[in-house]
Amino acid sequence: MELKRINDFYTSTNVYIISDEDTKQAAVVDPGGSPDEVIEYLKEEGLDLRYIILTHGHADHIGYVKNIKEYKDVPIVAHKDEKDMLNDASKNLSDRMRCGKTEFDADIYVDDKDKLELGNTKLSFIHTPGHTEGGMCIRVENSLITGDTLFRGSMGRCDLYGGDENKMKKSLKKIKKYENELAVYPGHGDASTLGHEKETNPYLSSKYIGN
Ligand SMILES: [Zn+2]
Ligand SMILES: [Zn+2]
Repeated sequence: MELKRINDFYTSTNVYIISDEDTKQAAVVDPGGSPDEVIEYLKEEGLDLRYIILTHGHADHIGYVKNIKEYKDVPIVAHKDEKDMLNDASKNLSDRMRCGKTEFDADIYVDDKDKLELGNTKLSFIHTPGHTEGGMCIRVENSLITGDTLFRGSMGRCDLYGGDENKMKKSLKKIKKYENELAVYPGHGDASTLGHEKETNPYLSSKYIGN
C-alpha cells in the first residue's frame, strides 16, 4: 500500500491518495483542494482510480470532488449520516468557499466497520461523529486517516452544523483503543502516531474524554 499526501495551499487540507502496489487500484480521499495535482499524480503513477472517499462533508474536503469525477467517473463513498450535508451547500459551507457551491449525493453510503478493497489492500471505516454527524476515519493497514476528528496535538471543532462535543469525546475514546504504532494522517497538519498522540494530545487524555 502506498499513501500519498497532497497538501492544498488555500484550505490547508490534506488530500490523500491510497494505492495498491500490485494492482495499481487507487482511491482519492477528501479532494477538497489541489485537484490538478491529484490528477497529475494519478496519471504519473499510472493509477487505476476506483473510488473517491470522504471522511466528512465539509467544503474543504469535498470542494473538488467534481473535478475528480470529471477525470474519471468513479463512485463517491461517504458515511450514511453525512447525506444531508453533502446535499446542502450552506451546511457543507461550500456556499462561502473558493471551490464554489457544491451539492451532490454519494454513490455508496457506508457505516461503521464496513470494508472496501483496492486490489489486495483492505480499507475499513470507523464511524467517528463529533466534528460532523457522519464523520469517519479510514483504516488501511497500519495507517489511520482521521479527517477532522483527530489532528496532531488537537481535534476538530464541534461548533459547526452536526457537531457534538459529547459524541466527539466518545469517538476519540474509540480511536484511543487502537495500537500505539498506528500512523495517524489527519485532514489538516502533519502526520503523527497514535502513541505520540496518546502521550501528548490533551484531547486524548483521560482528563478530557474520561477513562
Ligand atoms: Zn471539517
Ligand atoms: Zn477540514
